[in-house]
Amino acid sequence: MKTFEYMQPENIESASKFLTKNKDSIAFAGGTDLLGLMKDDIFSPKQLVNLKKIGDLNFIKYNENEGLRIGALTKLSEIENHNIVKEKYNVLYQSIYELATPQLKNIGTLGGNICQRPRCFYFRGDYDCIRKGGDTCFAITGHNKYHCIVGGDPCYIVHPSDTAVALVALNAKFKIFDGKNEKTIPAEEFFILPNVDETKENILNSGELLTEIIIPPINNNTVSSYIKVKERGAWDFALVSIAGVFNKNDNKITDGKIVFGGVAPSPWQDKKINDNLVSFNLTQENIKKLSSLAFEKTDVLEMNEYKVTLAKNLIIKLLLETFNI
Ligand SMILES: Cc1cc2nc3c(=O)[nH]c(=O)nc-3n(C[C@H](O)[C@H](O)[C@H](O)COP(=O)(O)OP(=O)(O)OC[C@H]3O[C@@H](n4cnc5c(N)ncnc54)[C@H](O)[C@@H]3O)c2cc1C
Repeated sequence: MKTFEYMQPENIESASKFLTKNKDSIAFAGGTDLLGLMKDDIFSPKQLVNLKKIGDLNFIKYNENEGLRIGALTKLSEIENHNIVKEKYNVLYQSIYELATPQLKNIGTLGGNICQRPRCFYFRGDYDCIRKGGDTCFAITGHNKYHCIVGGDPCYIVHPSDTAVALVALNAKFKIFDGKNEKTIPAEEFFILPNVDETKENILNSGELLTEIIIPPINNNTVSSYIKVKERGAWDFALVSIAGVFNKNDNKITDGKIVFGGVAPSPWQDKKINDNLVSFNLTQENIKKLSSLAFEKTDVLEMNEYKVTLAKNLIIKLLLETFNI
């Protein structure tokens, strides 16, 4: 690993100002993703700006009217073990439960999980790929079993974060601070596709930090769930995952939202599927019909067409299991 300076600012203002001024610096939360990238020489920042001492970004607060607020530096294990998360926000709980080893969750933060870099082995390997400023996505003609089936052109990564998928399904909002001003945006507007910028996965500019995740209150008729299909029986990134949040009334979904992971460079919504979840009668026949509507247009690569079938089948599994049909 190349040498670097280490900064430990006391507050978010000085962290953000330092990051804005020093273009070769980078924010460091748990370090579970960042340090691996530095060891592999994918990044060589001149300064690491440790956010961990900024205590006011480490909290979980719940209020029935406002919902759940989580500071970006809160450890994944603390969120997973929080009673309100388990009781009311099952989709978030399951996405963290499925995420990685207890050791990683004791160090990794929610902000770091959302902002982690892609696992594509061309990006993480010794390739001058398009995400690192080169002009080629090697996955297009290379080993592309794990790459995206939608939204890829010109870089076919998949977004690696499990929590991102759950948070978009929950209509979460993200608070961003740039050193002076704070703004709050819907989670789904935070993530960007490669046709907007193929070198980054979200809208953050240098010096901007994710500070808080706000999840709206849910009512007694809301149910939610997350299913992740992995290649190994042990911890692994998703081949395809699915998050669903539904309001229900008897045998009907009154409205709902399904979001996929592992299929696109950002958490992915299929408009046709979500449009059909308004006043949706929960019968096996309707569920099968719904699944057949998904992923009409894809951009599959040589080795990843299986993800289309997997994603369609996950819609069926999610609805049958969530509603005990
Ligand atoms: C073996 C292994 C398996 C894993 N499996 C999974 C998995 O299955 N699913 C999954 O979702 N994740 C998985 N992960 C990823 C892991 O969850 C992340 O490494 C972790 O969540 C990152 O959190 P961190 O706090 O350590 O982030 P860091 O490593 O400190 O930072 C990650 C990135 O986010 C940026 N960043 C951090 N905090 C902020 C902030 N507040 N604002 C702006 N930018 C910020 C950093 O600059 C850096 O670029 C795995 C990781 C490993 C090593």
